[in-house]
Amino acid sequence: MLKGRAKGHGTRTATTTNDTSLEDPSNMKEIKNFINGEYVTNASGKTYENRNPVDNALIGMVYEAGKPEVDAAVAAAKAALKGPWGKLSVVERCNLLDEVVNEINRRFDDFLQAEIADTGKPAHLASHIDIPRGAANFKIFTDTIKNVSTESFEMRTPDGKTARSYGVRTPRGVIAIICPWNLPLLLMTWKAGPALACGNTVVVKPSEDTPRTAALLGEVMNKVGIPKGVYNVVNGFGANSAGAFLTAHPDVDALTFTGETRTGEVIMKAAANGSRPVSLEMGGKNAAIVFADCDFDKAIEGTLRSVFLNCGQVCLGTERVYVERPIFDKFVAALKAGAEGMKIGVPDDPAANFGPLVSKKHQEKVLSYYKVAVEEGATVITGGGVPDMPGELAEGCWVQPTIWTGLPETARVIKEEIFGPCCHIAPFDAEDEVLEKANDNKYGLACAIWTQDVSRAHRVAQKMEVGISWVNSWFLRDLRTPFGGSKQSGIGREGGVHSLEFYTDLKNVCIKL
Ligand code: NAD
Repeated sequence: MLKGRAKGHGTRTATTTNDTSLEDPSNMKEIKNFINGEYVTNASGKTYENRNPVDNALIGMVYEAGKPEVDAAVAAAKAALKGPWGKLSVVERCNLLDEVVNEINRRFDDFLQAEIADTGKPAHLASHIDIPRGAANFKIFTDTIKNVSTESFEMRTPDGKTARSYGVRTPRGVIAIICPWNLPLLLMTWKAGPALACGNTVVVKPSEDTPRTAALLGEVMNKVGIPKGVYNVVNGFGANSAGAFLTAHPDVDALTFTGETRTGEVIMKAAANGSRPVSLEMGGKNAAIVFADCDFDKAIEGTLRSVFLNCGQVCLGTERVYVERPIFDKFVAALKAGAEGMKIGVPDDPAANFGPLVSKKHQEKVLSYYKVAVEEGATVITGGGVPDMPGELAEGCWVQPTIWTGLPETARVIKEEIFGPCCHIAPFDAEDEVLEKANDNKYGLACAIWTQDVSRAHRVAQKMEVGISWVNSWFLRDLRTPFGGSKQSGIGREGGVHSLEFYTDLKNVCIKL
């Protein structure tokens, strides 16, 4: 039974609606695909459930895009490249996208409610991170594409004259964007923002768990006058569903993905057909390194954030903490006190800073690691289970903030990404020793280093085999900087001018003068 104002589901023929209004976005009962500027169902009649992680209530049905809908979305995106979109100047295009930012901000609360309905995260968190960054991701790239020039060189030719070469950036074409569920709007616009600013058209495949904000953005695109077919959304799963149909589609010119490493590998194989460029932002098993000379309170505050923010569902989050032995016991005690002081609660509880995991499936995965940790011999410092929640909330996807100590470096919970609110804390005695341990992992996304010794900060940061090293901070993002993972955490860098490398084709024009 759908919670709230259910409208039923299960349409057997593809339908299109010209009325693109989506009713109350947090209360959307039918989540459709957005193709060529219109909300459409599907030919198969297949729908799947959309549940609220707070109490696992059924809150909507999503129309799964099959091959016909993916084909239609890609065809619309391809056609739009040659339509009015392709004829706009860079400044005209960017002005339109800046209106997208204004409209997201005007409908801030709708986006907030939609994101909360899908993820259950605290409202103040989504209103400080997810939605503002979701909008800012357009503005940073409209500014970048307008202001970054290409190179130009003059050379002497054998006949004593000259030739001038200059670079020209053109859109790549149709970009497929495959998204995860942890920061749905933020991570989708992190790709759609630069892709559109560079003049491409996009087909977005949101996570099956979090379809709402991508759907809602379709309304915004129509409202501000983004031409039909420029922004499309197809809902569904990976294999044998919208994800696989989209990545295999020969008219998709480039693929950009955020999600698990093993999914990224599948997508990379799909991209090989047709030799298409791919940008992969994948898993992590990030370390925090806490030296005895750190500002202790700041290190605790920062580590509490890096381990527990968004219920541990941040790709950059810390799951391994290494603490220099003289402050180890004090650090473990303070982190335990901080974890036990977290306020678990529903999104609109202003005091809550800890929400549920995204789904029952993910709750099962995280709890299976909680079990593995104990089987491997961990000392459970705090947590390790499911919190007592009242009434209907007991059905939700809650887990306790959890800290372990005492495991060898070979333990599965130290090696494998859990993507939950948990960490293992281990002592260390020397800089070389901790560098070796921190780098001994197949992932290489991010790290946080806590020290007041400036030389050591630079030394350790540069030796970490990761895409981003934070010193005395965590999750501080200047969107002009390169973002991406080393080792099995990613391929390619996005952010600022680095995104232009992926979302444009850089051509050279050489003129004999
Ligand atoms: P996931 O890999 O399970 O799914 C991501 C997306 O890929 C979903 O939309 C899914 O439907 C789609 N997909 C799955 N199989 C597919 C296939 N065969 N073909 C095409 N598409 C397919 O990841 P998730 O569980 O949604 O997200 C969590 C993961 O994302 C974690 O590993 C986390 O570290 C990672 N992540 C990385 C970053 C980063 O910037 N590096 C950011 C956020 C999340």
